[in-house]
Amino acid sequence: MIEVAHLPVVDVHAHPFLNRGAVTAEEFTDLTAFGGGSRAYLEAGGVAWSDEVRDELQRGKRNTLYFKRMILDLAQFFGVEPDVDTVLAARNAAVAAGYTEYVSRLYGDVRLDTLVFDFGIPLPMLEVAAVRAELPVEVVPVFRIEPLIADLLKTDIGWAEFQRRYDDSIADALTNQGFKGVKSIIAYRTGLDLSPLSRTPDQGLQALDAIRRGLGGGSMKLLRDHLLCRALDLCLEHDVPMQIHTGMGDFEVNLVLCRPAYLMDLLRFPAYRACRVLLVHAGYPYHREAAYMANVLPRVWCDLSEGIPFAGNAAWDILRGVLAMAPLTKICYGSDGYTLPEINYTSAKLGKQALASVLTELVNDGMLSQCDAETAAGLILSGNARDLYRI
Ligand SMILES: [Zn+2]
Repeated sequence: MIEVAHLPVVDVHAHPFLNRGAVTAEEFTDLTAFGGGSRAYLEAGGVAWSDEVRDELQRGKRNTLYFKRMILDLAQFFGVEPDVDTVLAARNAAVAAGYTEYVSRLYGDVRLDTLVFDFGIPLPMLEVAAVRAELPVEVVPVFRIEPLIADLLKTDIGWAEFQRRYDDSIADALTNQGFKGVKSIIAYRTGLDLSPLSRTPDQGLQALDAIRRGLGGGSMKLLRDHLLCRALDLCLEHDVPMQIHTGMGDFEVNLVLCRPAYLMDLLRFPAYRACRVLLVHAGYPYHREAAYMANVLPRVWCDLSEGIPFAGNAAWDILRGVLAMAPLTKICYGSDGYTLPEINYTSAKLGKQALASVLTELVNDGMLSQCDAETAAGLILSGNARDLYRI
């Protein structure tokens, strides 16, 4: 078996945590379980809130492989029985004794050293310095463009001023505020099927003008497509990587237009071939597409987040699929953890276990030498992310 327990971990895609205090078992389930919606989601759809509906929601969230695995991991960490209430009691006692010390022990157990945080969740954006101050690990901030676009759309400024503020805000984040990269979730908004010809400033001007005059149509897509191209230009100017969400996400993701393949025209366009791009979530469940793109496009990487941990035992399938085509130097471990630090913990445990197991298979099948597999483990868990973000 390839040994990975001792290896340090960089979590290349995650979000700052929201809650630093005790939580009830119900809150813990709501905050850490993937999918299933929320009370607000159901009420907005006309579902009357009742004890029965609440219980149904909680049961769904607790009965995923991912959630059950997290409870098992935490029970083992605390040395208690693996049921939600017992684990939560131990967890809240540890948090009460000191949040930062607790996270330090938790992350020390799996050697999680560095978190690359997309500050686009939660909103309003948290202060980078405040987030850093309470966490016992290295925090690398990444700037998300969509909250900036939303703020600019709330104003009534014309294109010249819109464009200037957009560029200046990103440049300021990268040069003065310590952000190490840019991120887009355009897959949640208008989809990844964008033409690189959207880069012409005329498209931004025309689209904003149409939006301002209340002419809907495809104007919002044309504007977002242009602004994503502009973000790639700025990443090139500042020599930082661009993260683009691909594949599954929350319920509002465009699950048809989130496939990494839609980005091919953009990423192989001559003006963008030099841009370092991380395909977030490796486009899971289209991870084989993302791996192929990391193979044929020299400056494209993919991360393993979200599929690991939220797709449970798919961790093995994701690693087999991605390792089949992506160079070992272009795969980065990530979790997509958010709200509470336990997601990142269980993800790192699961990610390490599946990685050790799949690399061992590859050695047994004669695809990798023992030495290559050990090197690959170090690269995937931290080395590739350190190279990509120059940290
Ligand atoms: Zn995310």
